[in-house]
Amino acid sequence: MTESFETRTRREFLRYCGATALLMTRFAEAWAEEPGSAGAAATERALRALAEDLEGDLLLPADPLFEPARQIGWNVMLPERRPDLIVRAANQADVVRTLAFARDQQRRVAVRGGGHSWCASAVRAGGVMLDLGRFNSLSIDPSAGTALVGPTVRGTEFLRALVPHGLMFPVAYCPTVPLGGFLLNGGNGLNYNRWGSACSHVLAIDLVLADGRELTVSNEVEPDLFWAARGAGPGFFAVATRFHVALRPLPRAVTLSSFDFPLEQAATAYRLADDLSASLARDAMLAVGVKTASPGTPAAGQVVVNVLGIAFADTSDQATTLLAPLNGDPRVQSALTSLVNAPTDLNGVHGAVGAALPGGHRYLADNIWSNQPLATVLEGMAEHYAQAPSPASNLMVPCFHPEFALEGTAHSMWGRNLIYQYALWTDPTTDERNRAWHDGAMAMLDPHGVGRYVGEADLTRSRDSARECYAPAAWERLRALRATYDPDGLFFDYLGMA
Ligand SMILES: Cc1cc2nc3c(=O)[nH]c(=O)nc-3n(C[C@H](O)[C@H](O)[C@H](O)COP(=O)(O)OP(=O)(O)OC[C@H]3O[C@@H](n4cnc5c(N)ncnc54)[C@H](O)[C@@H]3O)c2cc1C
Repeated sequence: MTESFETRTRREFLRYCGATALLMTRFAEAWAEEPGSAGAAATERALRALAEDLEGDLLLPADPLFEPARQIGWNVMLPERRPDLIVRAANQADVVRTLAFARDQQRRVAVRGGGHSWCASAVRAGGVMLDLGRFNSLSIDPSAGTALVGPTVRGTEFLRALVPHGLMFPVAYCPTVPLGGFLLNGGNGLNYNRWGSACSHVLAIDLVLADGRELTVSNEVEPDLFWAARGAGPGFFAVATRFHVALRPLPRAVTLSSFDFPLEQAATAYRLADDLSASLARDAMLAVGVKTASPGTPAAGQVVVNVLGIAFADTSDQATTLLAPLNGDPRVQSALTSLVNAPTDLNGVHGAVGAALPGGHRYLADNIWSNQPLATVLEGMAEHYAQAPSPASNLMVPCFHPEFALEGTAHSMWGRNLIYQYALWTDPTTDERNRAWHDGAMAMLDPHGVGRYVGEADLTRSRDSARECYAPAAWERLRALRATYDPDGLFFDYLGMA
């Protein structure tokens, strides 16, 4: 007699439930640290209740799906830290249930949005990892110029949906960065000199607090929490399940000019950027890069210093005017390669940054905000890059207009230049060499810094790394708000502090 598919799958399902029940018993005994105790039995009951109530799923370490779920992340060089449990929430009710379970079990919670944090802030030792991977809904109201965005919608996906409406949002320069963690960090996004930080476009945020309350915070409702949610980043003490944001009109003539200078001309390139960054109009952004030129380019394999201008304009004439001070500067004549007034679009900008910061790599990163001239801060850096173990590593400096300012949010640290140092490679046997070289680059940069950007800072470096990402008053206010809204420390603190 042949078995029906339904009979077989039902039997498999029952077998699976039996295996899961056994896993839960073993896990509860290990968690409660007393096999057979009343505590272990209560933990097991709580686990079963959570598993039954969830619309999403719960993964225990012995589950074959646990390790792949833990490993979802940007950096292939994943830390050894292992959560005790992973909950893949399907909706906000699942978030509420998971927080109640963690409070009841006195376990801490790490929230994972898109997993793009290079230092894997959401992967913690012990506790519950609350994975919001399924929170990727998106709805746009073109007539109101607003959108509701789930935290794991990626910048490139958001733009793809907005462009047909003639709208855009200042998403991250790297196309794969998800909106949630980016906005919680503050968000240095497209055309920042004109539009400011991305979090200044947030109108309200749907939150679940440590005590289980569900709120939509804004300048009118719980303004303190709204202030904190725009900048606290990986130290935020609530779960953001949806962002209400204001949109911007799409610039129709995005145009770029790019000049690669040889290593011997590095100082010329830095001075060029120093001279122009204050005088370029705010709809143009200027950036400096240090990198090894890619195969197929005139300086292939050699270190070059790139000076890049991007105009976010509506007509090509406007773009030409915006980039004229860069294109017309006599110093660009000494560049090895030049691209002048090349028409592109936001996808093109994303493509260029995405190529410099590809997935599937081992990453170390850090950054400084600096008010000193690049000619001072980057002195000797191109020579250091000539010693880089990996040609994929690169340094990027978005230059900020002197009138750029951050106001009214926890995203409170800035300077004239944000210098990102990225070491990236693929061969694990070169980990130590790459780490030593990256540390050398940071040792050159650190003395010139006034602070760091929390989104890409190395929070594992010391207890002070997180504090260095905030203006002193903002840091004190964040610590006080954490103590008020999460008095029992349900949420993990910044890496390096927890
Ligand atoms: C290659 C690269 C390029 C980048 N480019 C930019 C850029 O151009 N501009 C910029 O500003 N940043 C940039 N970033 C930094 C980026 O903003 C952060 O990595 C950000 O954390 C990514 O969001 P995520 O949701 O993937 O965070 P995750 O890695 O999922 O989470 C990191 C931490 O953020 C908190 N968190 C995340 N989501 C939530 C949530 N919904 N509720 C509560 N807490 C949450 C948690 O504490 C979590 O531990 C870049 C990073 C990389 C690696």
